[in-house]
Amino acid sequence: MLLLLLAVLLVHVLLQRQARWPELPYRWNPWATLRIDAAPDRFTRMRLAALDRDPVACRAVLAQAPMRVRTLPDRITGAGCGFDNVVEIVHTSVEVGPSFSLTCRAAVSLALWERHVLQPAALAHLGSAVSRIEHFGSYACRNVYGRATGRRSQHATADALDIAGFVLRDGERIRVLADWPGDGPHAAFLRTLRDGACEYFDAVLGPEYNAAHSDHFHFDRGGFRACR
Ligand SMILES: [Zn+2]
Repeated sequence: MLLLLLAVLLVHVLLQRQARWPELPYRWNPWATLRIDAAPDRFTRMRLAALDRDPVACRAVLAQAPMRVRTLPDRITGAGCGFDNVVEIVHTSVEVGPSFSLTCRAAVSLALWERHVLQPAALAHLGSAVSRIEHFGSYACRNVYGRATGRRSQHATADALDIAGFVLRDGERIRVLADWPGDGPHAAFLRTLRDGACEYFDAVLGPEYNAAHSDHFHFDRGGFRACR
């Protein structure tokens, strides 16, 4: 009994001490809530993964992003298809044309990529910010490559977005199909976007992966890691 009392006292003292410890700075704290504006660090992926397990926390982080979104109800749309914590994105930090649906976690990845990769790369390579993303859509209840059999695509659960091009503030248009093959600033810009996306998404596929991706980047969140 005395030992138990001593143990309780010890835990109490330790907890009290901990409460007085100053909070760890963000970049040293793997448990800190993800900040979209903070420069990426070694714990960014850990903080992103934490949002997979916590829909409410994910929405709170997404609210930091300069995005206009509408909440969509969870629903099953077919075998292996459906929405779980999905938003309809009307506008991100840039115009997006037709709205598209994404899981909260993929939307957070997109916000990070726009903030820390897309806009810095546009300014560095092309001297103008991006004002618009051109996309091929996100949600589709289908298998990988639209095959009749095989596993479901990450598109089937709104965990993936296909991006085909960009319009700059100065009006210039860059297309994955036309500009990836070159070796000028447009191609360098696109390579930086692809490589940078690997920091925030799980699978990143582009023209170097296969012919099916010659005209777009596929960015997704899910179980498979790829960066090609
Ligand atoms: Zn895709």
